[in-house]
Amino acid sequence: MSMHDIVIIGGGLAGLTAANLLSKQGRQVLVIEKKRYPFHRVCGEYISNEVKHFLKKEGLFPHAIEVSNIDTFLLTSVKGKSVSMSLDLGGFGISRFVLDDFLYKKAIGNGTDFLVETQVEAVHFEKKEDRFCITLGNGKEISCKHVIGAFGKRSKVDKSLDRDFIKKRSPYIGVKYHIKTDFDKKTVALHNFEGGYCGINSIEDQKFNLCYLGSRDQLREAGNIEEMERQYLWKNPFLKEIWQNSEFLFERPEVINEINFSPKKPIESHIIMAGDAAGLITPLCGNGMAIAIHTGKLAAEAILNHKERSNIESSYTEAWVRNFKSRLWIGRNVQKLFGANIVSEFSVGLIRNSNFVARNIMKRTHGQPF
Ligand SMILES: Cc1cc2nc3c(=O)[nH]c(=O)nc-3n(C[C@H](O)[C@H](O)[C@H](O)COP(=O)(O)OP(=O)(O)OC[C@H]3O[C@@H](n4cnc5c(N)ncnc54)[C@H](O)[C@@H]3O)c2cc1C
Repeated sequence: MSMHDIVIIGGGLAGLTAANLLSKQGRQVLVIEKKRYPFHRVCGEYISNEVKHFLKKEGLFPHAIEVSNIDTFLLTSVKGKSVSMSLDLGGFGISRFVLDDFLYKKAIGNGTDFLVETQVEAVHFEKKEDRFCITLGNGKEISCKHVIGAFGKRSKVDKSLDRDFIKKRSPYIGVKYHIKTDFDKKTVALHNFEGGYCGINSIEDQKFNLCYLGSRDQLREAGNIEEMERQYLWKNPFLKEIWQNSEFLFERPEVINEINFSPKKPIESHIIMAGDAAGLITPLCGNGMAIAIHTGKLAAEAILNHKERSNIESSYTEAWVRNFKSRLWIGRNVQKLFGANIVSEFSVGLIRNSNFVARNIMKRTHGQPF
């Protein structure tokens, strides 16, 4: 059995942020990631500017890549009514293919060890030894003092821990493309359709991300993705226009299912849960990536600032609840205003008629620079 100080399960934004910060402070860190970098993920790839200051300060901002700067929000209803507003904080666009690979290379430079193309099957906390035992897909075992669970929305580890949310099925699927199209680079748009919503925003290299949250039932009924898009998404004239007048750059889209927004716990079986593993904010809020980066920072700080396990866990829980609990709750409830005919007309009307209310909702689902 190999021995380590800190093991991070999952090398997405939460895991890579924590790995960079801990390694920079001389801690011995191993990240276990089931895929090989670089790779695509289903994600809208619009990052709230709340992370910019932090990434720059820590030398984790990808200066060499020309990210897009986004300052305007466009919303359209199922029937194609539209409204736009300026974004207070705004954001930038960069693909996960590029950003995660950049942070991965930074982490290697900072001294993090990686096991890629390796899946964690199970984690057990052994009380007597005050250590974790991690079982890998190849049967090998790793012993370590601390575990950060940064394995995203849904993982084998959740099953092995028998977490509550894993027992419920989710009605959502996520689909992502990269496209070339004629659209304003400074705008992030959210187009509603019956059963879901679709975002579009610019990323690097003159490309755009086109990503939607759709319905599992509609996909089953339509038989395939293409047919579902024609039957449901194209009813919104903005989406039809995008599909008919864009160059699609992937051979086939990236697709995931079982996207679950149920509440989760920030500490489970002594594992410090970061990013989506602690709770996924609804994508329409456009800041799950910022939350992942922020929780990665908080997880690293909890380990760096405290010696006793109980203090690490209580300080992290307190910070997580203070920063994210109500944002995630509001996000879940705001989602009810989207993806259906009458309510999406209502939300467009709401922004048109009460910019103040719309701004307030946006503020409450977004954080401040940290
Ligand atoms: C449709 C959709 C659109 C979205 N759009 C946006 C957006 O525009 N802006 C935004 O800010 N957020 C958006 N989000 C949310 C955002 O993608 C996530 O919040 C963010 O990726 C979370 O990062 P993470 O590090 O927690 O998890 P991830 O990025 O998912 O990383 C988890 C990693 O863990 C690995 N892993 C999992 N299980 C194991 C295992 N057992 N062993 C080893 N490795 C494992 C995975 O391979 C993965 O690399 C969107 C989400 C969806 C579903």
